[in-house]
Amino acid sequence: MTPCDTLLTNARLADGRGGMALALTAGRIAAILPPGAALPQATTTHDLHGDLVLPALADGHMHLDKTLFGLPWVSHQAEPFRMSRIETDQRLLPSLPLNTEARAGELIRRCVAHGTGHIRTHVDITPTFGLKALEGVLAARAAHAHMATVQTVAFPQAGVMRAQGMVALLEDAIRCGADLVGGIDPAEVDRDPRGQLDAIFGIAERQGVGIDIHLHEPGELGLFSLQEICARTRAHAMQGQVTISHGFCLGGLPESKQQAAAALMAEAGVALVSHGAGGATLPPLFLLAEAGVRVFCGNDDIRDTWSPYGTGDMLERASVIGWRVDVRHDNLLEQLYGMCAGNGAQALGVAEHGVAAGLPAHFYTLPAENIAEAIGQHPPRHLVFHNGRLVAKNGATV
Ligand SMILES: [Zn+2]
Repeated sequence: MTPCDTLLTNARLADGRGGMALALTAGRIAAILPPGAALPQATTTHDLHGDLVLPALADGHMHLDKTLFGLPWVSHQAEPFRMSRIETDQRLLPSLPLNTEARAGELIRRCVAHGTGHIRTHVDITPTFGLKALEGVLAARAAHAHMATVQTVAFPQAGVMRAQGMVALLEDAIRCGADLVGGIDPAEVDRDPRGQLDAIFGIAERQGVGIDIHLHEPGELGLFSLQEICARTRAHAMQGQVTISHGFCLGGLPESKQQAAAALMAEAGVALVSHGAGGATLPPLFLLAEAGVRVFCGNDDIRDTWSPYGTGDMLERASVIGWRVDVRHDNLLEQLYGMCAGNGAQALGVAEHGVAAGLPAHFYTLPAENIAEAIGQHPPRHLVFHNGRLVAKNGATV
């Protein structure tokens, strides 16, 4: 039998099979072997003592540039409305004693230690910051490329049409390495929905990148923006490349309008990412998924200038979202896990995801019997592998 790089014994799989062995070679899962099978020689062996092996989590929406990890506690300073938080960012972030690269690196390592293998982060592109935050995040990404994939969105946090030169700045951000172009509340923030949406779809078309738009606008106003986004996605033939972040409006509509919006999004190939916001109406995640919309999840703010909450743990996030949407049965929790792992990975352009022979070895282990327990109790992660390499152990990166 061909020797392997790493052998994991006494593993439990999500389908309930116990006593399994995983052989890893050249960054991939070479074989999954049943109890009693002959085991290959390995350079390194880990006895999992019955731990569950789950595919890497995907955090589909966060803000690496805003985190305060790495610093002593910084008390929340913004007033309870969005414009104050935006202004606080401009004032506070440049004066911190730890730069963007260092803070973003701290957060990436925390996410990895919790089993996250794939991240999409928004990065502020504003007249105040220019491309500085992006440069810091790209440096952190490069330093951690062996433990997670990181996709970046050039995010116009302070609006697109409100400030001179923002369209050119966003386009510069893409040239400097941002993977997608972002947007924000085209009606509420810019008061110019056509201007903002035409501008960012124009950038996407010229630069050949996807779009991820923060849409916090409530009710009918948000629905109007959502419809405009879907219309442009179809007109630009960008099905599968556009994401709406939050989509709070969907949670405030009667079910008939939710169904119509879900059908529109599914047809236009527009995805939705949610973090289960505490203070806003929550989109009907399962109704959307049922209608064929790609639904995935992220942590959004993690101990940062916008929120003191969050640890970077996507299982804890899954637990919060599951609690908010009130799903309790194992099969629904398994579907929710997909939104926090496989669906997110797909949205982030990760083609191969899962725990199966032949796939890249991105997974983690934890003491749980199944996915429902993993979400409900989100126990500590024991081992985390990325590309077949042990990258974290007992809550810390190695
Ligand atoms: Zn966000």
